[in-house]
This record gives sequence, structure tokens and C-alpha cells, in this order.
Amino acid sequence: MPDTAVMPIPGQVDPVPAPRDITPREDGRIDLLGLPKSRIRELFETAGLDPKQAKLRAKQVFHWLYHRGVTDFEAMTDIGKAMRPWLAKHFIVGRPNVVEAQVSNDGTRKWLLQTDDGHDFEMVFIPDADRGTLCVSSQVGCTLNCTFCHTGTMRLVRNLTPGEIVGQVMLARDALGEWPKGKMDFADDADEADYRSDGRLLTNIVMMGMGEPLYNFDNVRDALKLVMDGEGLALSKRRITLSTSGVVPMMERCGEEIGVNLAVSLHAVTKEIRDEIVPINRKYGIEELLQACADYPGASNARRITFEYVMLKDKNDSDEDARELVRLLREYDLPAKVNLIPFNPWPGSIYECSTPERIRAFSNIVFEGGISAPVRTPRGRDIDAACGQLKTAAEKKSRAQRDREAAQADAA
Ligand code: SAH
Ligand code: SF4
Repeated sequence: MPDTAVMPIPGQVDPVPAPRDITPREDGRIDLLGLPKSRIRELFETAGLDPKQAKLRAKQVFHWLYHRGVTDFEAMTDIGKAMRPWLAKHFIVGRPNVVEAQVSNDGTRKWLLQTDDGHDFEMVFIPDADRGTLCVSSQVGCTLNCTFCHTGTMRLVRNLTPGEIVGQVMLARDALGEWPKGKMDFADDADEADYRSDGRLLTNIVMMGMGEPLYNFDNVRDALKLVMDGEGLALSKRRITLSTSGVVPMMERCGEEIGVNLAVSLHAVTKEIRDEIVPINRKYGIEELLQACADYPGASNARRITFEYVMLKDKNDSDEDARELVRLLREYDLPAKVNLIPFNPWPGSIYECSTPERIRAFSNIVFEGGISAPVRTPRGRDIDAACGQLKTAAEKKSRAQRDREAAQADAA
């Protein structure tokens, strides 16, 4: 199995970027998952098709790949029978490998996934009465180390590729049986009438899994473009939210080049506390962050910015904190809503969750300040699928393994 560069967590704010191209496969075939139409077309030409053929085949394959979820070239019925084995000889359509799938007693589902080079990451599906939200990871681990977040304690990090990111959404559609059904021969558009996309369970996407999406900007953007493409997964940008801990220099590009809803992990209203619990604050402070929010392209009263605020007992949950939060959001005139997240504990975490009474009091103050501040119901806690609990079993195991090895070395 070929391995790729991983980034150590150096305890510094800005990670070392680890750009990574397509993972080479031992069989020499190229995985098309995550590639845009233009790249697929180029690859078809390189493999020997003439430009006109390459253009037509790229359009067809793109549609089967992203709109219909087909992974087998044999199922691409509008492509000539003779052509299909040629495609299969040179290319494949992959998916992230599933190591384990779990279901919580509240219906939340978590998948432990693995890249082709053996790195584990996770995705979570949260069904609600009126929507189904997929929580997507952008990195293996996270180079930032927010003190309340389990992912932030992971040892190794690498950016996920566009294929590994969009692959999560596609895998979820596979698992939920949600690809459009019906006959489709799109060489003749009249047949589009046979095409149905019904019973959507997966309606929303949040980039709130493992990792800091704005530290993997290009890959996240390229993946979300495929998700938003009308000929691709065709999910509206209004149903996609990207959450950042506050990578200020990338926020404008996020609005301009991706255009999805923005969520910001604020979590504290003073420099002292935010420096401690969200260490990126030492680099990009609260004022700078809120100014970037005020400048966020596309934010309006109809499309508010969500401010996430994790409720940590005796840390950031006083009445004074709540009042300061209202003051700050007003000062920057932000179209804001606040999402209060009860802290989800994990083994070894050093915080406690605020009491329900404290959370209610905090929420009331923010509401009275004219800003909506619902409390998020924790979901999937029993399977470690809740916010901030994602840390792969393999990583836990490797820690345990290391501890055992250390103990054996001590004993020797
Ligand atoms: N890295 C991005 C997105 C992933 S985290 C970010 O930090 O915004 C998604 C949300 O869960 C963030 O608001 C994060 O701060 C929050 N979170 C992390 N650990 C948590 C925990 N243990 N309990 C509750 N929320 C947590
Ligand atoms: Fe990384 Fe977000 Fe966790 Fe902070 S809260 S360590 S930025 S995943």
C-alpha cells in the first residue's frame, strides 16, 4: 500500500501543508472519483481517445459518476458496449473504504472510513424529522488543538483529497439508497423524463467532521463544487455549511469561490479565554475574525452566519459572557445566529458541560439581545459521533498500542 506524506501536529497554529495528488494505484488504473469533468476529459485524451470522443465520454461518465452514483462502467448504458471494457481497463470509480458502520440509539449513523493509503477518518449522518444532515470530514485529524475537541488531540494529519471528501457524500447516498432511479439515456434529452430523484433523506451537508476545512481549502472547494454542480450531486449551496475555527485569511475566498453558508467556532468572547480554548485565536484574534465575518461575501439577514459556542462549565458560560457576545455581534452589525453546543465529553477531556440551567440562562440573554440562540441537542453521543468526539478507533488503538509498547520497554 503506498503511503503519502502526513503532517505532524507541531503545536503551532499554521500547519505545514501537505499537497497530495491522486493516490497511485498498484494496478495502474486511475480513480475518477473527485475529478472534475475537464480533468476526466484530459485523462480520456491521454489514454487515447480523440478530443471529440473524450469530450462526449467525459460528459457521460461525469453524469453517471456524480448524478447517478454508478461505480461500474458496465452500467453506463448510453456508452457503447465496446467502449466500456476500455474504460474499465484504464479507470475505476472508487469510494472511501468502510471499516465500520455504527448506528446510535437516536438514529445517528457513524462510519469509520479509510483512505487507500490507510488513514482513518469518520463521517456522521444525523436524521431529523424535516432533514438529514451529513457531517463531512476535511482532514485526517486536525492540526489545530482546541482544548475541548477530541479530534484536536489526534497525532497525525493529512488533507483529504477532493475524492475522499465528495466520496463521503456519495457513500452516504449509497448507504441510504438515494441515487436517482429510472432509465436514463442522456444522449437523447427527451429520455430525461424517465429520470426521477425522489425521497431525499440526505438534504444538508455540514463541513463539521474532522479537520479544519479552510486549511484544506482547494480540496474542500473542488469537492463541494461537485456536490453543488447541477449535473453532479446537485445539492444547493444553501444547504451546505462550512464551519471554521477562524482561519481569517481564507474566509473571503470561501465566500467567493464556494459560496456556502458559514459557521464560525467562536466559543469565547475574551482574548484570554479564546486564546486558551481555540489557540488559533493567538494568530487571528476576535476582532479580526468578526470583521472577516462582517465582510463575508453573501452573508445577509436571509443567510445569517452561525456562531458556534460550546458550553464549558465555569469557563465561558457566565451572564457576562452572554452579554459580551451580544455586544460584539451588534458592534460588527452581523447577521448572526448563535448555536449553543453542550460540551460533549471524551475520555481524558478536562472540561465539564455547563448545567442545563446555565445554558438556558445564557441562551435567554442572547435571545433578549435580539439574536436567536438555540441549544443544539447532542446526537449520537453513545457511539462517539457527537460534535468534537470524532477520533478514529485506529488512532485510539495506536495510542493503546504505543502505551503497551512503552510499558513493555519499561519492563525490559
Ligand atoms: N474545525 C472546524 C469544524 C469541525 S468541528 C471548526 O472548529 O469549526 C465542528 C464544531 O464542533 C466546532 O464548532 C467545534 O468547536 C465543535 N466541537 C469540538 N469539540 C467539541 C466538543 N467536545 N463538544 C462540543 N462541541 C465541540
Ligand atoms: Fe480542529 Fe475544529 Fe477540533 Fe479545533 S474544534 S481542533 S479546529 S476540528
